[in-house]
Amino acid sequence: MSQIRRYLEALGEIGKDPRGGVSRPSMSTPDLEAREFVVSLMKELHLKTFYDLAGNLIGVREGESDGPFVTTGSHIDSVMNGGIFDGALGVMGALEVVRELNEDMVRTRRPIAVIVFTDEEGNAYTPFLGSKYFAGLLRPTDLEGFRGLYSGNPFPKDFEEFSKRTKATRIDRFVGNVAHHVELHVEQGPVLESMGKEIGVVTGIVGVQRLWITFKGRQSHAGTTPMNMRRDPMIPAARTILAVRRETKKVEEAVGTVGLLDVTPNVMNVISGQVTVGVDIRSLEAEDMKAIKEAVLNEATEAAAEEKVQVGYKELFEEPVKCSEEVVSKIESSAKKLGLSYMRMPSRALHDTQVMASVAKVGMIFVPSKGGVSHAPDEYTDWEQVEKGVKLLKEVIMELSD
Ligand SMILES: [Zn+2]
Repeated sequence: MSQIRRYLEALGEIGKDPRGGVSRPSMSTPDLEAREFVVSLMKELHLKTFYDLAGNLIGVREGESDGPFVTTGSHIDSVMNGGIFDGALGVMGALEVVRELNEDMVRTRRPIAVIVFTDEEGNAYTPFLGSKYFAGLLRPTDLEGFRGLYSGNPFPKDFEEFSKRTKATRIDRFVGNVAHHVELHVEQGPVLESMGKEIGVVTGIVGVQRLWITFKGRQSHAGTTPMNMRRDPMIPAARTILAVRRETKKVEEAVGTVGLLDVTPNVMNVISGQVTVGVDIRSLEAEDMKAIKEAVLNEATEAAAEEKVQVGYKELFEEPVKCSEEVVSKIESSAKKLGLSYMRMPSRALHDTQVMASVAKVGMIFVPSKGGVSHAPDEYTDWEQVEKGVKLLKEVIMELSD
């Protein structure tokens, strides 16, 4: 019988917050306890259990060959007052897969490693600290530069605390070659539930295009300035906001949001001197984000000229990451084989897997989130759906490691 529910509920007890949910930022006291819970489980399952200099936990199940590896896993750190499924499902699900492989006495050709990545949420040090180190994107000396938001300590100090306590074996870095990496995760959105599908086959992780568009006009009295003598930056800002929605809607699968408005001086009886509009555009296609950005900037420029205000912008761009078609179709064919209903979809939240894409062929499996709720105490996935997700992960890992 599957142990996944027992595993997840037991982990969910660690760092339980009296204000609701779990609060388990990376390397906090509850996180250290949760790590040792996972380490003892790994040992119970006869995994060779290591930790690297970034505090990633790595449980190795040997195969008939030395490599390359199939890796799976996720994170056990949580946001404050988070749920018991985010991240935890990918770790405990992977351990349940190992437990079943052991029980069925399955020998795989390739070795399998279950990984717990440090600080995925970035609540303690920096997002993806663990996966970036694992993928070789951070050097050991880079780790010294991160300071714990809650502990106030530089990362190496918190790491030493963990190091003293853990029963895993210390290594500098995992040197095995990783061929494929698969992560099981809750969707954290409402799509699967609303489409009535059991499984989301993730095609990629969306990129983000951010724009901070600033309009500078002339601050003046809201009463005494005649309408035809105003240079009001709020007007082009308003047109820009509407343009974000209009232009994003033209592109399937893209989303665009203005969630930030910085108004100076932000006073009722004053025509603003300056307004900044914060735009967040996400898509799996870099080209689509570029097209929306261009159209929004055109509107901003035109609207600013009409109002005789100045306009400028800053931007930040993060590339979307595509999953490997090989892994995606393997997940699909496995879902078909198990009789699970599924759909292809992008991930609109960020995951360690996008970092792993720099070293391996990657894929992700989503299971439905009730009401689309996540990063909240009432994050929930039906236990039946959880078990289906684990079943699929097992099938995919067996296929990839064969
Ligand atoms: Zn997560």
